[in-house]
Amino acid sequence: MAPARTRPPKNRSWLLSLLLFGALVIMSLFSLTNPERIGDKEFTNAPEVSISEITRGYNAGAFSKIRVRDNKVFVTTITGAVLQSYKEGMDTVSQLGWNDPNNTTIVEVENREAQNMLLSVLPDILFLILVIGGLIWLFRGIARSQSNAMSFGKSRARIADATQVKTRFNNVAGMEEAKEDLVEVVDFLKNPKKYTSIGAKIPKGVLLVGAPGTGKTLLARAVAGEAGVPFFSIAGSEFVEMFVGVGASRVRDLFAKAKRNAPCIIFIDEIDAVGRQRGGAGFGGGHDEREQTLNQILTEMDGFEQDTNVIVMAATNRPDVLDRALLRPGRFDRRIFIDKPDLEAREKILEVHAQNKKMDTKVDYRAIAKKTVGLAGADLENIMNEAAIFAAKRKHKGVTQQDMDDAVEKVALGPEKRSRKLSEKEKQITAYHEMGHAIVGYLCPESDALHKISIVSRGGALGVTWFLPQEDQYTTSKAKFLDEICGLLGGRAAEAMVFGEITTGASNDLERASAIARGMAMRYGMGDDDLGMVTYGEKQGTMFLGVDPMTTRNYSEELARHIDEFVKETIEKQYARALGMLKKHKAKLEKLTTILLKTETMSEEEFIEIFAGKKRKAKS
Ligand code: ADP
Ligand code: MG
Ligand code: ZN
Repeated sequence: MAPARTRPPKNRSWLLSLLLFGALVIMSLFSLTNPERIGDKEFTNAPEVSISEITRGYNAGAFSKIRVRDNKVFVTTITGAVLQSYKEGMDTVSQLGWNDPNNTTIVEVENREAQNMLLSVLPDILFLILVIGGLIWLFRGIARSQSNAMSFGKSRARIADATQVKTRFNNVAGMEEAKEDLVEVVDFLKNPKKYTSIGAKIPKGVLLVGAPGTGKTLLARAVAGEAGVPFFSIAGSEFVEMFVGVGASRVRDLFAKAKRNAPCIIFIDEIDAVGRQRGGAGFGGGHDEREQTLNQILTEMDGFEQDTNVIVMAATNRPDVLDRALLRPGRFDRRIFIDKPDLEAREKILEVHAQNKKMDTKVDYRAIAKKTVGLAGADLENIMNEAAIFAAKRKHKGVTQQDMDDAVEKVALGPEKRSRKLSEKEKQITAYHEMGHAIVGYLCPESDALHKISIVSRGGALGVTWFLPQEDQYTTSKAKFLDEICGLLGGRAAEAMVFGEITTGASNDLERASAIARGMAMRYGMGDDDLGMVTYGEKQGTMFLGVDPMTTRNYSEELARHIDEFVKETIEKQYARALGMLKKHKAKLEKLTTILLKTETMSEEEFIEIFAGKKRKAKS
């Protein structure tokens, strides 16, 4: 099956260059034969005589040749000498009497006028050629774009043949539940009779919901691959064009094509681009073009006859903004939620992406999986690739554990910027700041385990203290929130304690601490008694997948003030707590910072060894 795209139009610019080239050739030819240049040399120093003298000499037969060009007269005498003269512009050879048939003198009149004429009109001709050529070129362009406009309504779906989709469920690591659900879909596509004969309806739409990079697209392809059916894929945004109605006609075209190729899968990626709630609710609502496109999708899905074996799969990471009509039975009534991979799944994903790489035999995928809590499949793929790049750069025979560790760091924290030069003072402040985070975080019982401290600049940060959750966590306690705030304030507390002044370096910490405190008060009912177990602020759509929807205020001024007070008090309390911890361990802070300034990075073990004065495994 040929791809649905139209053949790319031929590039016509060669026409223009050909014209230009031709013009250049003609011009240079003319300048080569320019009479100005021929035989003039011998006359440059020729003595000038009056025209009457020339006539006299002619009559006397003293010349062998007279050459006339414009009003210039060049004469060669019998003896071979040369003379030159000027005649009146109007005088012709006969008027001068040089046309005596009995005279043997050769009289040549160079018809330069004619050549001149040609020369003078040449630019005009060239100009004309260029204009005409340009116009032709332009019209062809217009014609071309018009033919494109005609195909506007055609869908731009990429079609993969049944044999082309190589992805299988095997290539998708983890996601066991999702795969289980989809095995059914595969079966529908393969043996529709089995279901229709018993009166079961074949599902029309499957919606894959999950954070970016969790493998939704991959999974959809795997379904097509497993079922061995053609796969039409298009991104929601590709429906939407400048012109109203184009999207709808593309949808029509896509579904028509799909029906002709049934059984098959239509995959609409990022369907939220067209499937947002209609009718102005929330943000970006009331977009005519999108509404029409969405309506068309719904109409097409409703229009499937019972035995049309086309399954529409769609992916989104914003199910909260989807139009409810899309989720109605008979449309995308199957929803498959794809979570960020857990420890087990992360290990498997790493292994899947190690398959096409040369690996050192001794790598521990589990260890890497443990370090990558919260990362999605795409991030893990990226880590494996970065690790391979490190290995290649370091001329390793295979990817080693060290390469993978460094890749995790690079992906999680951003690339190192060793070239960024900090002043000595800045470096010191950074070291104390990070050590403040480390000590406070270490001392807070609910804090994630310390992993590494570094004062090498990375991405936008001057330094970093890296805490790693030991396991996947799905809920958070109030104590943990408070410890997190305390740890975040540890950096600033250390700066204030040691230098008595504070820098802007802590602004991100403060922002995050405030956000946590505000969330406690408004979202989780963890505020004080006056706030109670009430959530404040009405969200447009639900909080989903870490994307904050817009909130509107649905509480009084007084409560707003109360929330602000709670946030302020919480921050102040935790700041005092952090400061207290650092004061108590001031000597260790000094010692650790001195070492950190020298070594630039410090591992958890090194930290604990110095801080606790003994070798001990990190708290688990
Ligand atoms: P999404 O569509 O959810 O944003 P993709 O399907 O495009 O994510 O995934 C991006 C890449 O991440 C895939 O090409 C794949 O290589 C990798 N990936 C994600 N999840 C998995 C997984 N479970 N197993 C293997 N690879 C995965
Ligand atoms: Mg995708
Ligand atoms: Zn900080």
